[in-house]
Amino acid sequence: MQEMQQNTIQQTDVMIIGAGPSGSSAAALLRKKGFKVTIIEKQHFPRFSIGESLLPQCMVFLEEAGFLDTVCEHVEKCAFQFKNGAAFLRGQQRSFYDFTQKFSAGPGTTWQVRRADFDRLLAEQAQALGAEIRFGHEVIAVDVETVHPILTIRSEQAEVYQLQAKFLLDASGFGRILPQFLNLESPSNFPVRRALFTHIEDGIGNNPEFDRHKILITVHDKDHRAWYWLIPFADGRSSFGVVAEQDFFDAYLTGNAEQDQNEVLLKRILADDMSLSNVLAQAKFDTPVRTLVGYSANVKHLAQSNYALLGNAGEFLDPVFSSGVTIALKSSSLAIPLVERVLHGEQVDWLTEYEQPLRQGINVFRAYVEAWYTGEFQDVVFSRHKNPDIERMIASLLAGYAWDMQNPMYKNAKRRLATLAEYCREALPLEQALGN
Ligand SMILES: Cc1cc2nc3c(=O)[nH]c(=O)nc-3n(C[C@H](O)[C@H](O)[C@H](O)COP(=O)(O)OP(=O)(O)OC[C@H]3O[C@@H](n4cnc5c(N)ncnc54)[C@H](O)[C@@H]3O)c2cc1C
Repeated sequence: MQEMQQNTIQQTDVMIIGAGPSGSSAAALLRKKGFKVTIIEKQHFPRFSIGESLLPQCMVFLEEAGFLDTVCEHVEKCAFQFKNGAAFLRGQQRSFYDFTQKFSAGPGTTWQVRRADFDRLLAEQAQALGAEIRFGHEVIAVDVETVHPILTIRSEQAEVYQLQAKFLLDASGFGRILPQFLNLESPSNFPVRRALFTHIEDGIGNNPEFDRHKILITVHDKDHRAWYWLIPFADGRSSFGVVAEQDFFDAYLTGNAEQDQNEVLLKRILADDMSLSNVLAQAKFDTPVRTLVGYSANVKHLAQSNYALLGNAGEFLDPVFSSGVTIALKSSSLAIPLVERVLHGEQVDWLTEYEQPLRQGINVFRAYVEAWYTGEFQDVVFSRHKNPDIERMIASLLAGYAWDMQNPMYKNAKRRLATLAEYCREALPLEQALGN
């Protein structure tokens, strides 16, 4: 490859790696304060990204960044699906949470979106606010040892150049640029799981048993550690996938390469769940099936004096409660006022002012994800003993309000979920489940 080295280092106020939701929202918030922002994005938009189910908490951050109007204007054109809750299916058991009935204040509805369209809209709006996005440019080296960090970047024309800023934000998602270059990776406490997924013509039509306004999470009939998502869009199509540990998939492999192709495998796993197969009886698989393995990730720290990690570049838990984009937007919302202070020459304690508050909500999600896979939260979801107050508190979490410390279910979330699961298994009086 022919490489051309430019000698002068280009300058900007803040440089951001990645133009996904966390990068675009960070750029928009910075532009609103008048700072010069440059995003380096290695792909061209629109580009595929997994993660189509938003949570109502997102709406607060979309509005804050100045994105909400443009997303609203494109709802019909992009077939964004109005969403007001989450439905659950396990064999013959059904359950749902209505986000509009949640405990926390704030929006109770949102959308399910094709991320190619959604991320493009956000990036375009960041550009309209004055952010520069260099599509097709890839960060290939990072230097944070200088007071003002420097990125080495390669364009598609194989031109290599350097960009320096007063502050660096890593919003590179699963690219995980700073974790890799600065050796920040820290193992996730979740086991390695795999997702197999695609977009389908769902063929559900007017089936009265199916609510397009909700994501459907189906627990595998025979192995409760495995689950499927079905995320409808507004045009008769859906995102569909299954998540499990590798041994679950291994049990479906035949050893015949043709029979074990992703699409055949996904259909075989679907056929093994009677309830979901009925919902998708008319579905057409018309898009290549993709797979992702070992996506849960963590880091040793989320920020230092001249850089911070946003969204998935920091920690990613698990897809089950669709928390990814919400956490990505929340991280920008928390970080940008601190970046502004740095740019004004103030001291910022990134640990107490960014990392700890962000992780507080992430840890609430974590407690629910862990309890999902141990089966405790599944017992709560499918319990016959529905207490309206507890339902409202859980609906808040599922709607993304994981930073609302007024919610009694958040304090000691892990212990409370365990107690609640016992109540739901009819072993405990409700007062004890609700108690402090
Ligand atoms: C199976 C699965 C299902 C999921 N489902 C959901 C869901 O339903 N709802 C939900 O909210 N979340 C979901 N998520 C999570 C969601 O995908 C992410 O949390 C979200 O996309 C994070 O946004 P981000 O802005 O941090 O990063 P991203 O959206 O990943 O954006 C990162 C950008 O950085 C760019 N980049 C990477 N490396 C470089 C480089 N070297 N130089 C320049 N640019 C670079 C990439 O091209 C990309 O555009 C799911 C995740 C998985 C694995």
